[in-house]
Amino acid sequence: MNTHKICILKGDGIGPEIVKEAVKVLDCCAEKYNFKIEYDEALLGGCAIDACGTPLPQETIDKCKKADSVLLGAVGGPKWDKLPGNERPEAGLLGIRGALGLFANLRPAVIFEPLKGASPVKDEIIGDSLDLMVVRELTGGIYFGERGRRVSDGETEAYDTEQYKVSEIKRIAKVAFDMAMKRNKKVTSVDKANVLEASRLWRETVIEVAKDYPEVELNHLYVDNTAMQLVRNPKQFDVILTNNIFGDILSDEASMISGSIGMLASASLNAGNAGLYEPIHGSAPDIAGQNIANPLATILSVAMMLRYSLNESEAADAIENAVNKVLVNNRTPDIYTEGTNRVSCSEMGDLVCKALS
Ligand code: NAD
Repeated sequence: MNTHKICILKGDGIGPEIVKEAVKVLDCCAEKYNFKIEYDEALLGGCAIDACGTPLPQETIDKCKKADSVLLGAVGGPKWDKLPGNERPEAGLLGIRGALGLFANLRPAVIFEPLKGASPVKDEIIGDSLDLMVVRELTGGIYFGERGRRVSDGETEAYDTEQYKVSEIKRIAKVAFDMAMKRNKKVTSVDKANVLEASRLWRETVIEVAKDYPEVELNHLYVDNTAMQLVRNPKQFDVILTNNIFGDILSDEASMISGSIGMLASASLNAGNAGLYEPIHGSAPDIAGQNIANPLATILSVAMMLRYSLNESEAADAIENAVNKVLVNNRTPDIYTEGTNRVSCSEMGDLVCKALS
């Protein structure tokens, strides 16, 4: 029997409530699909500041490094808002991403059939469902390039530098192609190669990597066209491969197509395919402690963890099918529509477990 070591970071606000439901679902999967989970737990964010005086204690880094995967709720809240930037809960999040070397960010944009009405995009464009994946480079490009201010022609000028090494492009491209092999075998690489030199190197390198994946169809789109195509015809995409800054913008656009922040999962992977899995939403302090948060983004993050880090894709599929089934009649308040049952956070977790078994 396979044993998977998972480090749990509940975080702040609704973090503990949603993570509890995700763990419940993970335990149901372990029983049904015959694997074992060893859990460890550590502090990150505001709860770590309160307990240890820092948002990212060394013990948390050590525990996460020992795990096969990390499941995170969310961090932050008004209690810690007045702290300086590098002492705030969110600094813990950036710190753990860096410490674990998480260079690949995966953000699926999925529309579950029962929630089609929540998408701002017309029904005829979405069809029955939508399922695309944005693979974004997370530790390079203009966010990490040389920047500064200088005086030019007697006035202040600011500059930021987009820079990528071939090795950085290769490793993120491989993630995208591997992902496409597990999905519909299509990669759309996004760049601005008509203007930017870094984009020209990006395109050349992606074409080289594609040679190792003859089964995958590769096409290239300029970023401005991609932004347009995402709302015009999102179904043409399977895996979208982007650099850091384009992915930042496009993944938010793609996730909006699905219409509901409480439904969206994400993963960040390192070279060893260990990953940190988390919902894309924050700690929702306005509804914390009321048992009304939507746990599905965290539950779907667990499905991603099973598929991409733990090699348990049957269990991952089962979670996604169970969520689809439960959503037909049951909704937490954030996605409630008339004629369905309004359920709590813990009831939603129970229903997904029931649908799994
Ligand atoms: P948020 O995502 O926490 O909340 C935005 C709105 O969406 C709120 O009305 C909230 O109630 C609702 N919402 C979010 N998740 C929900 C869920 N699962 N179920 C139902 N409703 C949900 O964003 P915010 O209000 O801008 O930020 C709150 C705190 O979270 C801040 O401290 C921010 O820094 C932090 N934050 C953390 C992360 C993270 O941990 N990855 C990401 C974003 C924001």
